[in-house]
Amino acid sequence: MKRLAEAGENRPQLLSGNDAVARGVWEAGARVAAAYPGTPSTEILESLARYPGIRANWAVNEKVSLEIAIGASLAGSRAFSAMKHVGVNVASDALMSQTLAGVAGGLVIAVADDVGLSSSQNEQDSRYWGRFAHLPILEPCDSQEAYEMAKAAFDLSERFQVPVLLRVTTRVSHVKSVVTVGERIEHAAKGFEKNPARWVLVPAVAKRRLGDQAVRDRQLAAYAETCDFNRVEAGADRRVGFVTSGPAYLHLREAFPDAPVFKLGLGYPLPIERIRAFAATVDALIVAEETEPLIEKELRAAGIAAHGKDILPATDELTPNVVGPAVRRFLGEAVETVAPLKADVFPRPPTMCVGCPHLAVYYCLSRLKKQVNIAGDIGCYTLGAGHPWNALDTCTCMGGSMGMALGMDLGRGETDKDRGIVAVIGDSTFLHMGMPGLLNIVYEGGNVTVLILDNRATGMTGGQEHPGTGHNLRGDAAPRVDFGKLVEAFGVKPERIRRVDPAEMPVLFKTLKEEIATPEPSVIITNRPCTLIDCFCKDTPFRVVEEDCTGCSNCLNVGCPAIQVIRTGVEKSGKGKDIERKWVKIDTAACTGCGLCQSTCGPGAIVRAGNVVAGPGAGAAR
Ligand code: SF4
Ligand code: SF4
Repeated sequence: MKRLAEAGENRPQLLSGNDAVARGVWEAGARVAAAYPGTPSTEILESLARYPGIRANWAVNEKVSLEIAIGASLAGSRAFSAMKHVGVNVASDALMSQTLAGVAGGLVIAVADDVGLSSSQNEQDSRYWGRFAHLPILEPCDSQEAYEMAKAAFDLSERFQVPVLLRVTTRVSHVKSVVTVGERIEHAAKGFEKNPARWVLVPAVAKRRLGDQAVRDRQLAAYAETCDFNRVEAGADRRVGFVTSGPAYLHLREAFPDAPVFKLGLGYPLPIERIRAFAATVDALIVAEETEPLIEKELRAAGIAAHGKDILPATDELTPNVVGPAVRRFLGEAVETVAPLKADVFPRPPTMCVGCPHLAVYYCLSRLKKQVNIAGDIGCYTLGAGHPWNALDTCTCMGGSMGMALGMDLGRGETDKDRGIVAVIGDSTFLHMGMPGLLNIVYEGGNVTVLILDNRATGMTGGQEHPGTGHNLRGDAAPRVDFGKLVEAFGVKPERIRRVDPAEMPVLFKTLKEEIATPEPSVIITNRPCTLIDCFCKDTPFRVVEEDCTGCSNCLNVGCPAIQVIRTGVEKSGKGKDIERKWVKIDTAACTGCGLCQSTCGPGAIVRAGNVVAGPGAGAAR
């Protein structure tokens, strides 16, 4: 792992927002950091792990990651936790209470919102959490601000003894810009000071803290009026003035370079009186905020007339081509209708990787889907809902598949009384939030077959380590969870725990059918590594013997992107019906040699590449 912050690092650098947050956290002297990977926040911890003097950890979920950071803060260290927006839902139990107790060492929580839904199940606005939990929120608009605010957030946290939310969005997290960096300032751990009257949140303690929290709220509101991260930018065109924050500021500036702008860096609490004074200098005030109308409502509640969602959309990013026409229409200007930009990229639905071990699972489930209801989960295997498998019936939230499967079992109707019920979950997701769901299935004797797809990685976010991989974030060897023993400890009968190599597709299919037919809790663990991680071993690729291929397209149902259609045609069946044919080839450079497609091919046209003599009957070499 390349170490950062070595010689020659203290000059302007091209950093993504995530890298910039990591740099700021490190320079602030943070000593402990934890996260669960989640797009768009994942790279913050990966970047932090490369700096010296800070212990960066993957946690099994966001709540645990925040608890680690809280513990380190109570020990007097500066501490950090990162998560994506939906991760805050998981961490919220710890968050809501700890904000009442406060912090010792500075505690900063980076939250990355997926505005525009590039890879998430919802578009929730994390700025609500600041208001809900009485926390200050810093909102950078680019990498430089992400770096500066990450650093400043620790001082703010210690000054008011409160966790600070650093809210970024996908646009900030993943776009790179130049950042002028500085030096790390060490903050030694002060050690834990016992103070049960503050840290033990029994009702009597929590009640007292409510009063302290109210005082803190007032102090933070006063601080917001003076905070340098909030600034007014003068503009010549005073027909409208904007209040804005985060990357919406940059979009707005591009669309209206001459407008007066109140740029919020501390997005909560709001500097109400400064905004009131700003509003008096313009004809109309427009709040340009992405997703929810939070600032707008607060300004109106304070008696400041403001436009916002009556002009601008409440979903997706406020890019210049969104904000520009909307405000011009409001100003009564003619607006040209601009055709949407055409992407040069060929549209391609999301799909699993070449040779992905999940292909076999979804191929088998797709053969059984008329007889089973299938509850899915969050991760690569969510792609099983798509073409050609169409083998997921539900997917709601991280770790939710097993609870939902149990509910489907308990709530069966007449039409599905004889159906099998399957829950599909990945190894990392199982450790994240899935375990209690399985425990409940066992506890209730649910007639559910749980598939744990162990590919030894947190695959969807790039193959990060977790307690089932045998390594930690820093690359050190770590104890590896045995999923079979784990689920046996939950009470699943040993004979109902099956371990299958998904590359042995006929065995997998038979095992699935047997367990679905058994009316009690069962677990099938598939155990092939993700094709994108270090321990994956590529085998000799396969190829299609063109002369033997009948065009039946069975192999296409596996869904492997290495199999390509080279020509199509229509043939008459014996009964005179038209049958569509698709003849295929395998991209041998991409093929991992898993052999899944071979086991679907009736005429034996798929053979190991380099092990075939072209010509009729050559497929017999298989
Ligand atoms: S053997 Fe078939 S399924 Fe496996 S990677 Fe190659 S083409 Fe894909
Ligand atoms: S399964 Fe075999 S015969 Fe059918 S299309 Fe694929 S390679 Fe050709």
